[in-house]
Order: sequence, then structure tokens, then C-alpha cells
Amino acid sequence: MDYRGILSRRRAARSRPEDPGRGDISHLLFVTARPGIQLLWTVLVSATLVYTLVQSGPKHWWAVALMLGSFAVVIVGNHFFPFDEYKPVLFFVLMVASLALTAGIVYLTGNRESLLGFLFFAVPIFASAYYGYPGTLLVSLLTALVRYIPFMGAGVTTLEHVSLALSALTYVFIGMMSCYVVEGEKMYARESGEYRHLLELSRHRERDISRIYNLSRRFSYTLDIDTILKTTAALARQMLSAEGALLFLVEDSRVELKAALGLLPFTDLQPIVVPSDRPWKARLERGEPVIIEKESLDWLPLPPEAAGNSHNLAAVPLFMGGDVAGYVVCFSEQTRPMRSSSLEVLSTIASQAAMAVEKARLYETTVEDKAKVEAILGTLRDGLVLTDEHGTIVEANPVFDSMLSPVGEVVGSPLAEVLSGAVTEVEIGGLSLQEAVLATLEGRTIFGEMTISRDSRIAVQAHLIPLRDPMSRNAGMVLFLHDITDLKRVDEMKSNFVSNVSHELRTPLTSIAGFVSLLLAGRAGSLNPEQEKYLKVVRQQSGNLTRLIENLLDLSRLQASPQKALRERADFYELASACCRQFARTAQSRDIEVRLSLRDGLPDVSVDAGRISQVLTNIIDNAIKYSQPGGLVEVSAAENGSFLQVQVSDTGIGIAPSSLPHIFDRFFQAHPGDAEDPTGFGLGLAISREIIEMHGGRIWAESDLGRGSSFYFTIPVHQ
Ligand code: ADP
Repeated sequence: MDYRGILSRRRAARSRPEDPGRGDISHLLFVTARPGIQLLWTVLVSATLVYTLVQSGPKHWWAVALMLGSFAVVIVGNHFFPFDEYKPVLFFVLMVASLALTAGIVYLTGNRESLLGFLFFAVPIFASAYYGYPGTLLVSLLTALVRYIPFMGAGVTTLEHVSLALSALTYVFIGMMSCYVVEGEKMYARESGEYRHLLELSRHRERDISRIYNLSRRFSYTLDIDTILKTTAALARQMLSAEGALLFLVEDSRVELKAALGLLPFTDLQPIVVPSDRPWKARLERGEPVIIEKESLDWLPLPPEAAGNSHNLAAVPLFMGGDVAGYVVCFSEQTRPMRSSSLEVLSTIASQAAMAVEKARLYETTVEDKAKVEAILGTLRDGLVLTDEHGTIVEANPVFDSMLSPVGEVVGSPLAEVLSGAVTEVEIGGLSLQEAVLATLEGRTIFGEMTISRDSRIAVQAHLIPLRDPMSRNAGMVLFLHDITDLKRVDEMKSNFVSNVSHELRTPLTSIAGFVSLLLAGRAGSLNPEQEKYLKVVRQQSGNLTRLIENLLDLSRLQASPQKALRERADFYELASACCRQFARTAQSRDIEVRLSLRDGLPDVSVDAGRISQVLTNIIDNAIKYSQPGGLVEVSAAENGSFLQVQVSDTGIGIAPSSLPHIFDRFFQAHPGDAEDPTGFGLGLAISREIIEMHGGRIWAESDLGRGSSFYFTIPVHQ
């Protein structure tokens, strides 16, 4: 009898709690009692044989034969169908054979008087270990019947019948009792088996979790993608107790083997083409984890000894940014199946790896981007500074540093403070530096000019741009400082030149106009019509030239001393109505209505009245000039905080959107020659802007091409 075999099967059975009827005590009962009993039987059988053959003679030959047969059945049956395996029919045959053997021994050793009758007890006891209550009851009754057989026939006393009935009851009782004990043991064993299984499972889980935790910890400080992939493959292989692990990444729509453990050494990595006819590949690409059985790995460059074998595979996709960006594949020999629980573990490892790879890639990109930004900042000719959402400098390029070098190290300091320490003059839409920074952080883009005073004065054009994060929240700002010192110098030279030339031209022009007037007045004799016509042209052109020169001189005067606005309290209604009155005749001649729509109670303004009249006159003049007969020019005003906002609207030809931003530039004409009176030089609005800004106000225009324009300006209200 191979008890070691039974024991090992038993051990294997214990790890399968789903098998019912496998109890420790019952197992012990069979494993320890059976050899003893069989030894006893063997001794008894041998002794009985000797006794029967020597003492009883041939009258017991059938009993001897039955006994020998049963003995053989028990031995052979035990060998091929051990009690350990639950096979009811075979076990029943075995049980009957055991019973026959017991009966044979009992009858041969003394029939009804045999003291070995107790051996019958062994049968219900054994039966109880394998059958439930009904089976044991049946075997007990069968045992009682076998025990009763010799009492059948004549000469049996009532007392013997009674003792027989009592022994039948005893068999049943013993069978039921041991059934009760064994059932209890079975239940206990089942429960403790399940408990052990659960415990083992939870230990497995705990180990898995701690391994995955360690993995994520390692990933948290690893930014090397190669290390991440190799660690992932190693852990996947270890946790699945797999023969090997492979890690693929999809790069430029090619599947590349990035890490391999097991049959392939790391050094042998090369681009691998996973054959597209494998159905599992398509499933992986769709994002499904898969278990594949008996798969040929012929697409891998395996060593010759492993090339022919087929393997079991467990594979999961690697998701990055919602897409399948690779696969983790574990494989084992064909004899070792992959369990579906492996997929959960593998998926967890894969998602940790995917996160780590994404993080590492992000880091790589950030480092690359940073290097690019630093290279750009280093070569930029403009000063550039970047702040955080509070306006604190986080990055400044060398040009910015050199522009503000007396300030020293600027990173970490508030931008407004750094600028205030070096900037002497600011012109950014009437805002202070502090206000400009705050307005930019709130989302406004601001242009302006500043003068930075250090060893020398640097004039810069400042461009403050807000930065927004993907949720459109304040993420800081960028300030560009473009050095325009040279431009300013050239501009100043040009202005001086224009101003000087204009001055020089004014005197001869005055005498030209004077002498032409004398000639036209006939002071030098009468003129023929042709001479008169030519002289009138000279007078008109010199008049135009004089106006141009006056405008130029005016503009250069304004630019030379922009701060000097002579402010006095003025009634805007009076000022505006005087302007409108000037155009009464012109407007009438062109069939254009000039309407003054001012409500009562407008506050007085604090302005240089002559200059503001100049602005209003220029705008109304343009409105009439660029309107068709039948048009309307309307002047209105409304109080807006500490300013009065004036609006001049017309129903004229309008301004193209592309020209609109430039109409306040010097010499700019949106439609030269279109107007009926092409006497403009493109200076009127430039002068107007200087005047309005000199008052701390703003001037702008809106227009609908072909439908009309509206010009707005603001002037301070008298406080
Ligand atoms: P100009 O003396 O040429 O009118 P301005 O500086 O006053 O010069 O105006 C600049 C340009 O703006 C004009 O040439 C014209 O093209 C355009 N413009 C000004 N006002 C109007 C308006 N009300 N309607 C249409 N275009 C206008």
C-alpha cells in the first residue's frame, strides 16, 4: 500500500476546499487505523488459514475461498481506489468485500461464538467516514445481516435472537455515532480548510499589495523609462510566478519590445512584430486583458531549446492618456495554466507602470521645453520676465537683468517693486506700475512705454501679457521690454528736423501768400484770366502747405511738452455748441445734419478749452468730410466716473477693420482721395490723441464699414 502517495494526495486535496468530505480526523482514522487493522487482518487471515486447513478440514473450503477472494479484493481495491478518493460505487464494493472478509474471519474462527465478532464494528466505523447517515445506516444493517446469517436455521434460542437484535442495534448506533463525529469533523475541516484558504489568499493579497506598493514607491523616485519598464517586467514575472515577462510599447504605430525577462535576455531587445493574425493581439489593442492557452511564441527570437514549445500567456494593455500604449505579457510553460486572478494583478502593475512612464515622459518633455525656453530667452534681444500668479518674478532673461542690473537678483522679487526701483517715467494707459501689473494679472493686455534710468536712460516699449492656465485662471504674466532708445533718438531728431524745417518754411510761405494776394488784388497791374487762375492755384496750394506746416509744428509742440495741459473749468455744452456752429454752413451746403444731443445737467469739465475744441472740431470735420449728402453727425456726451465721455457718430463711409487700429497714427489715411475734400494730411487724429492723452483721457473709434463711425474721447470732469 502506497501511503505516502495517499498522504500527498491528501495534502493536495486539502488545498481544495471545494472537495467535500475530506476531514482531518477521518483522514487520520484511515491513514493510521487502516494499516493496523490490515496488519491485524493479515495476521488473523494467516492464522485462520492455518487453523482452518489444519483443524477444520475441507468443510470450510468455500469460506476459505471467500475470505481469500475478499482479502484480494480489499488489497487490490485499496491499491487502485484508495479510500482517500471519493468514489461511492467502488467504495461500496470495497466495503462489501471488507465485510465479507470480516465475516469469513469471524465464521472460520468460531462461528457464532467467535470473539472476533467485534471486527464487524470496524465496518460501520469505516463506512461513516465516507458515507453520510443513510449510507452508514445501510452498511450497518448489512453488517448486522451478515452477522445474523449463521443464526438462521434451527436451534437458535430467543436469548440469542435478542442478543443478535441488540448487536444489530449496536452496529447501527456505533455507525451513527461515528457518522456524527466524522460529519462534525468534516464540517470543522471544511471550515478550517476554507479559513486556511482565505488566510492564504489574504496573505497572497497582502504580499501582492506590498509588492505593488513597493513598486509605486520605486516609481515615485525613478524618472528613467528604461528602469521603469524593466522593473515592471521583473515584478510581473515574479508576482505571476511566470516563466517570463515581456513589455511592449507602441511607438509611431510600431510595437517595440522594451523589456524581456525569462527566455529572452535584456540585451537581446529588438523591434518585434507581433503577428496580426493572433486574435489576442486585436483584443489587447481594444484594451481587453487576455489569457491565451497553448500559444506558440514563434514570433519571439527564442533560444532553440524553447522555440518549439507552446506557452500559456496572460497579457494586459498599458493605458496612457486613455489609449493603449503598450502591453505587458507573462508566459509560462504549457503545463502551468494562467489564472484569471493573474490579470487583476497584472493590470494593477501595468497601470502603475503606465503612470510612471507618463510621468517620466512628462518630465523629459518639461526638461526639453525648459532647455528650449532657456535657449530662446538667452538669445532674445528684448528683456523678458515671467511672473507667477502673484506678480512675483520666476524667470528673467539676461537682457532684462542687464536693463535693471542695479536692482540685482530679480527672481523671487515682486515685478512692480523691481520696476519701481529703476523706472523713472511710465506711460501705460494712465496706470501706475503697480496698477498695470495688477490689471495684467486680472487678464488685461497692456502696451506702454517706460524709461529706465541707470547709468544712462533706456527708453523701452513695454508689453504686459497675462498668462492663463487651461481653466482660464490667472497663471502669472509676461513682460517684454523692447529697447527703443535709438528709435526715440531718431524720432526726436526727425521731429526736430521737421520742426526746424517747418519754421524755416513758414517765413517764405508767408511772403509767397502775401505777394500772391497783392498780385491777385491787382497791385502790380491787371492780370489776364489765365494769370489769375494760376495765381489762385498757387494761393490754394500755399494755403495747404501752411496748414500742413502748422499741423506739424503743433504736433511737435505737443510731443515736446506733453504734460503741459492748461486746465480750466469749462462748460462742455458751450464748448460743443460753438464747435457745431462753425460747421453750420459747410454742413448745410453738403446737406448733412449736425445734431448736438446733450442732456441737461452735464458736469463742467477741467480742460484746455481751446485744445478740446480743436479735437472736437477735427472729429466733426472728418465726420462731415467722410459722409454722403443726407447724412447725420451727432455729438453726445455722458458722465463716466471722473470723466466725461464724448461721442461723435456719423452715418458716413466708415473705416475698414484693418485700418481702424492705425487711424490715430501720424500721416495715416484710411481712404486717401475718397472724400470730397481731399485736403487732409492724416495728422488731425494724431494731434487729437496727443491732446486727449495730455488730459489723462482716452480716445478711440468704432466703425461699421459703409454704415458710419463713432469716435469717443474722455476728458476729466471738474471736481
Ligand atoms: P485727415 O486730415 O486725413 O482727415 P485724420 O487724422 O483726421 O486725417 O484722419 C485720419 C484718417 O482717418 C482719415 O484720412 C480718414 O481716412 C479716417 N477717418 C477719420 N475720421 C473718419 C470718419 N468719420 N469716417 C471715415 N473715415 C475717417
